[in-house]
Amino acid sequence: MSSLPNLATVFEGAAFGIAVLDLEGAVRDSNAVFRKAYGEISADLLRDHQAEFTALLQGNRPHLEFEQQARTAGGDGMWTSCTLSRLKDERGNVRGAICLIRDVTHVKETEQRMLHDMTHDPLTGMPNRLLFESKLREQLAALQTAVPASFGVLMLDIDHFREINEGFGHDAGEFVVSQIGQRLVAAIGAHDLIARVGTDQFAILACSQGNERHVEITARHLFSALAKPLTLGARTVYVSASVGVALGSPAYLRAEDMIRDAQIATRYAKASGGSRTAIFDATMAVSAEERLQLSSDMRAGLERGEFFLLYQPIVQLEDGEFTGCEALLRWRHPKEGIISPAEFIPLAEQLGLSTQIGRLVARLACRQLAAWRDERGLQIHMNVNVAWPDLLEAEFEQSLIAVTREFQVKPEQLMLEITENIVLNPDGKATQVVERLRQHGFGVCIDDFGTGYSSLHYLQRFHIDAMKIDRSFVCGPGEELASEPIVRALMTLADGFNVRVVAEGIETERQRHALLAAGCRYGQGFLFSRPRTAEELAATYPAAFGAHAPCQSG
Ligand code: C2E
Ligand code: MG
Ligand code: MG
Repeated sequence: MSSLPNLATVFEGAAFGIAVLDLEGAVRDSNAVFRKAYGEISADLLRDHQAEFTALLQGNRPHLEFEQQARTAGGDGMWTSCTLSRLKDERGNVRGAICLIRDVTHVKETEQRMLHDMTHDPLTGMPNRLLFESKLREQLAALQTAVPASFGVLMLDIDHFREINEGFGHDAGEFVVSQIGQRLVAAIGAHDLIARVGTDQFAILACSQGNERHVEITARHLFSALAKPLTLGARTVYVSASVGVALGSPAYLRAEDMIRDAQIATRYAKASGGSRTAIFDATMAVSAEERLQLSSDMRAGLERGEFFLLYQPIVQLEDGEFTGCEALLRWRHPKEGIISPAEFIPLAEQLGLSTQIGRLVARLACRQLAAWRDERGLQIHMNVNVAWPDLLEAEFEQSLIAVTREFQVKPEQLMLEITENIVLNPDGKATQVVERLRQHGFGVCIDDFGTGYSSLHYLQRFHIDAMKIDRSFVCGPGEELASEPIVRALMTLADGFNVRVVAEGIETERQRHALLAAGCRYGQGFLFSRPRTAEELAATYPAAFGAHAPCQSG
């Protein structure tokens, strides 16, 4: 009669892995299944769980459970579910632990397959919206803590897809989508992500990796990928697409919002005729009705003289001394009251009223400079904001020169503030205009530096006189500089290009001191003065404007 096997034989032949660990966590004895997973030495078992193991031995927890992928010399990478419990001797002293492991590799594989299916599109095998959103969320979270890297969401929508689908049939529609999908995958950069997010919609997360123009370049690559026709049976079809872009910004807290804005821009690109790119701006979200109302109000307001300028001083940070001012436009709307330019300028651009507003601003600015000259004998320096589409208008330069002549204002008194997004102008016309304006004597300055599309690229391409550090880097929720490292980085950049720096949005003494410490010499902000009328400005700076009432000297 054969006897029952002894405990050691049971231990060795058990279907699950068993190991005995000493107080240091070293494996003292183990069975075949355990050795298959972890090899003979088993040093890997507690790699991420040393502290919990100590807590187990000390009696601070009843068990220790975890899952991990075993890294054996054999390298088959079995997934194990491990449970450890204390081992005590007959006197009740803890002598080590016993570890039981189960092979859960097939469970893990099923889980991973499910996860893949949940996050990928079955037709194209590309990531789907769920995965896209989660990657975008990571990108946005990084933006809250790190120096802003430029990235953008590009939403590509195939033009006239319905016609393809209905004209050639559903299979042809699917064929087109998967062909386009493959081409787009090949067109994007190694660090970019592309997902299919709708029947005929693809979303691309373009991450700059140091190249500030990456979003722009990606958009171009997408269009070239579509340039070649597709063959559908005996037919050749050309497929075009509309692309909407939302540029990454710390203002986006939720991935959904950035995707929504990119989609709004896509609709805008489509409505403008398709086969083009549109970059989102806030006015795209304004309803058609509101737009219509505001547009007729704006036209009437321009005629009725409801637009006027306020002036914010630009001072020396060291002693607060006046060096010049920035002209800031306001609209006194008959019903809504004073409307900020942030609201009406982008709308004016869309409505085609921007040129008219630009001319008005130049006229009001020159008229004021002439008044200060005639009444007080002063040559004040004034910054004027110019919307970049205006700058590219054929007549802009001529009308600017004409108005300075009319009021006999020297171009040197005017500094034109333009924003970084001008680099989106693809044919290099902007560079030439800036160059010519500077030859005429106008100063050119980049506004809101650091927030836009292409800081470094801008400095390389344009010869400019000054840049203004955007106020988002200067004033934050506290008293301190919102982002000292960025300010310092921008100062170094400006220094390398020999460009004068003005910091915007200085609200506290601490910010002023930190800016001075970073080497910044000029600034503007509520700490010194809010934008004021011409009379208020003169009264605030008697040393610069003369303490007395207008003098009549010429
Ligand atoms: P901007 O050129 O960057 O002007 C600076 C803005 O920051 C102004 O807002 C100013 O009032 C505000 N600001 C100044 N100091 C502080 C501060 O200490 N704290 C805070 N929180 N804000 C400060 P504003 O006047 O509402 O103008 C907004 C934007 O509208 C301007 O930004 C500029 O881009 C545009 N804009 C203004 N006037 C014109 C114009 O005549 N033509 C064009 N095309 N755009 C204009
Ligand atoms: Mg400005
Ligand atoms: Mg600014």
